[in-house]
Amino acid sequence: MIDNKTVFKIAQDYGTPTYIYKLEYIQNNIAKLNKYLPNAKILYAVKANPNGAILKFLAQNNVGAEVISLGELARALKAGINPNNISLDGPRQDTELILAAIKAGIKWVSLDSYSQWQLWQQFDYSNLKFFIRLNPDLDPKTHQHLATGAAESKFGMTLEESHVVAKDLKAKGQLAGFHVHAGSQISDFSVYDEVLARLKPLFEKYGGAHINIGGGFHVPDFDFEAFATIMHNFSKALGLKIVTEPGRYLVADSGFLLTKVLHKKTGALDHLICDAGMADLIRPALYNGVHPITAIAKSGNENIYDVDGPLCENADRLGRGIKLPELDSGDLLLVSQVGAYGFTMSSNYASSFRPAEVILTNNGTKLVKKRETVEDLLRLELD
Ligand SMILES: *Cc1c(COP(=O)(O)O)cnc(C)c1O
Repeated sequence: MIDNKTVFKIAQDYGTPTYIYKLEYIQNNIAKLNKYLPNAKILYAVKANPNGAILKFLAQNNVGAEVISLGELARALKAGINPNNISLDGPRQDTELILAAIKAGIKWVSLDSYSQWQLWQQFDYSNLKFFIRLNPDLDPKTHQHLATGAAESKFGMTLEESHVVAKDLKAKGQLAGFHVHAGSQISDFSVYDEVLARLKPLFEKYGGAHINIGGGFHVPDFDFEAFATIMHNFSKALGLKIVTEPGRYLVADSGFLLTKVLHKKTGALDHLICDAGMADLIRPALYNGVHPITAIAKSGNENIYDVDGPLCENADRLGRGIKLPELDSGDLLLVSQVGAYGFTMSSNYASSFRPAEVILTNNGTKLVKKRETVEDLLRLELD
């Protein structure tokens, strides 16, 4: 956690709401991955949190990147991530993105559709290795918005298409291997058994030196030891190197959202109206995401609150039925586990200003992204 003195100082120096990151936690998560999957290539899924300071820190720790847009590619390169450790994934891969990836000299691509492979034929892709992303057609046992491995989801190729493209890539000597990202927040290991059972015949038939198992490791309690055993058995039997694309797992616990109570309302339910809500952190509204909420420097009799945002929207909420001491206007709250899919999914809804972002340093704090202002909201508008 973060000590109260630092929290008060951040509120005073930078205002609220503000995202605070503790890079030490990211380092611990990298160490855990390296411990259990010692020879695996780690490609951080940039969409989880594209903050430049975090990307730079990951680059310094030898972590690569999984990118899905021009913006993510630019940010990864700016942070100093080696193009040899960047993979272009995702459903976009249009002409503009393909040209940018080739120009940047990235090494890896994960093909999401047959149509993408056809488009790639117009370009010189001789320096690239391709993963084929298979739609594993299974129930990943997670929230429907996170279930990317279901047959009805838009992700990956069918088995038939995978065979066609694999044959082509094998002939060209450019098949990196096969890729499945079955979903996010996966905790049921039968999902991995099913994924690997689907991939095995493909590896046996076409080879490929790498298995890309995607990301999706459940936060906060993914059982890495059990996962590593499953992966090592599979990769050893087939002589494969492991590639992973963790997003949430690397950064979720490093992030905290500091917010201030604006008003207290009592009634059928007691509400704390805060200055952060769904525009700043949409996970509770979009995924029923649950995030621990704690009061800063308050104790005593506890009460049950709805912790709400400041917007005119019922879903504008940070947490429901939260046990907190008696609080009032001006008190500070810290929402935890928001380092992934927090700031990056924030919006200007209701003309909200996106929050500031601060990292904790050895001797204090550092502002790494300024809070938006009215000028930022209006900057691109034309009369
Ligand atoms: C989002 C995504 C990831 C990361 O998912 P997490 O749940 O954040 O670990 C990895 N790979 C692909 C292809 C993704 O789309």
